[in-house]
Amino acid sequence: MIVGERKPFDEIREMLKGYKKVLILGCRTCVAVCMAGGDKEVELLGSQLRIASKKDGVELEIIEDAIERQCDREYMEPIREKVEQVDAVLSMACGCGVQFMAEMYSDKPVLPAINTNFIGVNEDVGVWTERCGQCGNCVLHLTGGICPIARCSKSLLNGPCGGSQDGKCEISKDVDCGWQLIYDRMKQLGQLDKLEEVIPAKDWNTSRDGGPRKVVREDVKI
Ligand code: SF4
Ligand code: SF4
Repeated sequence: MIVGERKPFDEIREMLKGYKKVLILGCRTCVAVCMAGGDKEVELLGSQLRIASKKDGVELEIIEDAIERQCDREYMEPIREKVEQVDAVLSMACGCGVQFMAEMYSDKPVLPAINTNFIGVNEDVGVWTERCGQCGNCVLHLTGGICPIARCSKSLLNGPCGGSQDGKCEISKDVDCGWQLIYDRMKQLGQLDKLEEVIPAKDWNTSRDGGPRKVVREDVKI
């Protein structure tokens, strides 16, 4: 899922300066799971903004709502009426949701209330960690199901580098060496011999280096 965190309150307040009526719109999918942008977070931010505006004598009317996904046209259309009523939308979705909303409601300022961090997993209660760097050409079959792009700090396709010490990455003793994890897993699978094969240089055309990406499934297109 996409993992994000709410922006600092002061930064959000600064963005809202000059707007008198704002829709705070949550997203109930990824950012709700990481507790950055679901229904509760909308409610909390709404209350905080109301209290702060009242205290500062600033005129600010807030409408609150949340939809299933802000990256999906199907869910965006039904909120048109609410969007049209306000001066700006404060989106509590990931960067995709904010942009898609700005595309669909092109005459309306759409402001991000969340910083989008990475694609990751919910590792434990209150802990989210990165797993995939979205390279578009997966090599997990060669690396024991552990991603060298996202989990090695240098995104090495053949590792470890000389900086790995006692299973930790040289960037911090709190960070596992991605290649140590790969080694341990390959050992567990009885596939250490596979690591003797050098993984060739990657074609990064499928990654960000190839510009904005697009996936089209002709079989499901209408
Ligand atoms: S190899 Fe690429 S697609 Fe596969 S998990 Fe890593 S970054 Fe994601
Ligand atoms: S120590 Fe391990 S994770 Fe860190 S950069 Fe080197 S190979 Fe990658």
